[in-house]
Amino acid sequence: MSAPPLPLLGQSLAALKDWAVAQGQPAYRGQQLHTWLYQKGIRSLQEVTVFPKAWREALGDYPVGRSQVVQRTETRDGTVKLLLQLADGELIETVGIPTAKRLTVCVSSQVGCPMACDFCATGKMGYRRNLKLHEILDQVLTVQEDFGRRVSHVVFMGMGEPLLNRDTVVQAIRSLNQDIGIGQRHITLSTVGVPRQIPWLAQQKLQITLAVSLHAPNQELRQQLIPSAAHYPLEALIRDCRDYMLSTGRRVSFEYTLIAGVNDLPIHARQLAHLLRQASQSGARLHVNLIPYNPIAEANYQRPHPARVAEFVRLLEEHHVQASVRQTRGLDGNAACGQLRGSFLHPSSLPSPEPALGRS
Ligand code: SAH
Repeated sequence: MSAPPLPLLGQSLAALKDWAVAQGQPAYRGQQLHTWLYQKGIRSLQEVTVFPKAWREALGDYPVGRSQVVQRTETRDGTVKLLLQLADGELIETVGIPTAKRLTVCVSSQVGCPMACDFCATGKMGYRRNLKLHEILDQVLTVQEDFGRRVSHVVFMGMGEPLLNRDTVVQAIRSLNQDIGIGQRHITLSTVGVPRQIPWLAQQKLQITLAVSLHAPNQELRQQLIPSAAHYPLEALIRDCRDYMLSTGRRVSFEYTLIAGVNDLPIHARQLAHLLRQASQSGARLHVNLIPYNPIAEANYQRPHPARVAEFVRLLEEHHVQASVRQTRGLDGNAACGQLRGSFLHPSSLPSPEPALGRS
């Protein structure tokens, strides 16, 4: 049996031209297809009305590579969470976050996640598989279609650890840029840190923003919250971030989920400032993004009081570390940071996860 054809979504202009020629058509049909795939967002080749009818009929249901929207939740602030079903039946979530000027998509890079962070709903569901290129691009096109508006920003902050699916994620970044037309500077990749991957990313010569999920100012506490941190000492992570900033000239943003009584005390702010000053001494530019904890059913943590959050910011700034507080969006629909888990399904109805990576 021959392998099923490669989905069209994710293929470059040159590859689509070759595909058209291989189908016995002139190369410009590939150019047309590129526009219809990436700009008009077709779900089936039958929608490409500029193609000759006889050819469309011959193509039948040739795979475009779009996923099915199986559920949609809109929260009070206009954030939209979509549950998508992939060709093999797996489910992922993607979130569209609108403001007056921006439409940001929070994309997933894996089905589930093996990192098992203790405060994250995705981490609690276990790992299923990496997403394919077309499955990542589809999320952006689907949000664009849902809002009837161009996506301006993409953040790899949905389900999964992007650096465990690095080749596909980097291909997706290039395609978002070259095929869909999103500026690389409007793309952020967020990682909790995977050994050796930040230096690798630096070599890819991308203009994206790197965000690193830190969540603790010392190794002991970090390991408690993030089991995979045991394999990547904080010191090594900070050194890799500093080298990344120096070699790419791009600012690194550090994410820090503030959990009441766990990592939000004044001592933690001071330790964090001290840790980051080491990284920035060599002129590297950095920024801290504080995320007040969003409650999840599987963990017994609390969101800090706003006064605690404000005090944390003040202490960081007193120590010359730039910080901002991420505005919570989508909380009432479980669409906020850390709450994604294909949650329309009861977790117990999912088959048991594969063995986790990076954990002993
Ligand atoms: N695996 C990557 C990409 C996911 S990003 C990473 O960890 O960076 C998801 C962001 O939301 C991360 O910064 C994560 O730590 C944060 N987050 C996870 N659970 C959260 C929760 N319950 N409340 C607030 N932020 C959370």
